[in-house]
Amino acid sequence: MYAFEYHRPKSVAEAVSLLQGAADGKLLAGGHTLLPTLKQRLAQPSDIIDLGAIAELKQIRTEGDRLIIGALTTYSEVVESETARSAIPALAQLASHIGDSQVRNRGTIGGSIANNDPASDYPAAVLGLNATVKTNQREIAADDFFLGMFETALADDEIIVSVSFPKPAKAGYMKFPNPASRYAIVGVMVAETGGGVRVAVTGAGPCVFRSKELESALAGNFAPGALDGVSISADGLNSDIHASAEYRAHLVTVMAKRAVAAAR
Ligand SMILES: Cc1cc2nc3c(=O)[nH]c(=O)nc-3n(C[C@H](O)[C@H](O)[C@H](O)COP(=O)(O)OP(=O)(O)OC[C@H]3O[C@@H](n4cnc5c(N)ncnc54)[C@H](O)[C@@H]3O)c2cc1C
Repeated sequence: MYAFEYHRPKSVAEAVSLLQGAADGKLLAGGHTLLPTLKQRLAQPSDIIDLGAIAELKQIRTEGDRLIIGALTTYSEVVESETARSAIPALAQLASHIGDSQVRNRGTIGGSIANNDPASDYPAAVLGLNATVKTNQREIAADDFFLGMFETALADDEIIVSVSFPKPAKAGYMKFPNPASRYAIVGVMVAETGGGVRVAVTGAGPCVFRSKELESALAGNFAPGALDGVSISADGLNSDIHASAEYRAHLVTVMAKRAVAAAR
């Protein structure tokens, strides 16, 4: 049986205060992960704090050479945004391949990266594009945000407000999707950024990670051919009914090559 108090704050400050006052509070964004978790009784929070009425969390804008996306922005809003599409086409393309239209119409960037599912797409974009996660307390660099399977640097009373992406010179994303859910069996974001080439891999391991081998190979020559002969170790990669660790390792290089070829 469900037994929680439902709240619908109008500001981030009000949401933080509700979270701090609750015995076991949970933030609700798109609900596509949280509601199934509740239904399966994997979580029984004392309070649900619905972020849906907080206008400041819904925004897509540019600021200098950065694209800022509010935490409550849905995948569909990114796909349809001319601002997002022209600033970072690879990000809008990534969002357009998440789940199905119901998922894209409800799921949010804040919910996706706070949840940090090992097969989610946005973590690869945040890490590969060297984004910064802005919360009610601080700014967290992508390299410090994703800590492990379903684990992030967020404190219990911390709320993601927005994600700030520096515009890359070029970026591309390709995934080999699970045919049922569309989650990534392997997804790879490649980017030429001001700080060099970055390659972030999702779906392959317990948590999104950067591939130093692929980054070094692409550093001098950002072309698919630069990855010929580069192989990724299967050690520590996921192995399940969908794909073995060895198959995932193979897919990482294949998806990276396709992402470089598609990079704009
Ligand atoms: C059928 C199906 C297919 C899917 N396919 C894909 C796919 O192909 N690729 C993919 O990446 N994902 C996929 N997903 C996952 C989907 O993207 C989820 O929506 C997403 O993981 C969570 O986002 P949400 O907005 O629904 O968050 P919610 O479910 O509302 O919340 C998830 C977690 O994040 C926390 N949270 C939410 N917002 C914030 C915030 N601003 N600050 C701090 N914490 C917050 C919540 O408290 C909760 O713990 C799929 C889901 C389903 C059901």
